[in-house]
Amino acid sequence: VAVIGAAGRMGRLLSAAVADAEDLVLAARIDRLAAVEEEGGKPAGAPAGGGPVPALASMESLDAGIDVAVEFTHGEAPERISPVIRRLRCAWVSGTTALTEGSSRALRAAAEEVPVLWAPNMSLGIHLLNRFCRTAARLLPAGWEMEIVEAHHGGKIDAPSGTALALARGWVEARGGEIIHGRSGKTGPRSEKEVGIHAVRLPEGAGEHRVFLGGAHESLELTHRALDRGAFVSGTLTALRWLVAQRAGLYTLEDWAADRLRSLEDRAAG
Ligand code: NAD
Repeated sequence: VAVIGAAGRMGRLLSAAVADAEDLVLAARIDRLAAVEEEGGKPAGAPAGGGPVPALASMESLDAGIDVAVEFTHGEAPERISPVIRRLRCAWVSGTTALTEGSSRALRAAAEEVPVLWAPNMSLGIHLLNRFCRTAARLLPAGWEMEIVEAHHGGKIDAPSGTALALARGWVEARGGEIIHGRSGKTGPRSEKEVGIHAVRLPEGAGEHRVFLGGAHESLELTHRALDRGAFVSGTLTALRWLVAQRAGLYTLEDWAADRLRSLEDRAAG
């Protein structure tokens, strides 16, 4: 496994988790040169025995012995990383968010040659919350409505969270409606087409999403709490173990889940 963005918050955790996993080998830790220089050539919190993190250019000199690259970098970076992945012919798990158009294109281009899995939220709990909400959107009769409250640490620079938006968009795609952000003033009665999102910011916290589904006679509340960034790390390792056995193509956690359910059903059917 090569970790790209290895000097970053996610990259450090992933490097340590890969190094600790018995079935994985941490083959390379890569970051862009500037970040490595800032940290004096050795990322803080690197796994014991870890040497300096080489820059992306040095991926050129890596042997073609890498099965999968795990990449959590910045929105514009996948565009530069894609040609290296294609040359190495390894699988690519990307958790990078706020992708530029060029980076989205670069992921799709790589997916024509190697297996690529991109997920803006690698937490398996959030993945399940998404699935529950999409099922609810299809199954619940008219009259049921959705509102979302998300809570994050005060350092987060955007609101609402991309995850809250994705949950609300899934509902709107299935049932129609309009996303609104908070309420204040003389709003008038709630329209049945509204899907409200409310963003809470507190000094600490890894992230919480609360989905409220309400009908005339009952309501349902689903809450996901990321206790720490380990939630994204374990989901990423699950994704990469699955991805290395797939053909070239662009995948999401949805594909992993569908495949997993299929194999569980096959096993149950004998
Ligand atoms: P960070 O800024 O701490 O780390 C990013 C690292 O990528 C930095 O060390 C930077 O030097 C490196 N980098 C940037 N461009 C590079 C390039 N061209 N080549 C090699 N390295 C490069 O950020 P973070 O908190 O670790 O998050 C990284 C990304 O992952 C962000 O987009 C964030 O939103 C996303 N993220 C996704 C999930 C998920 O579940 N999918 C979870 C957490 C964070």
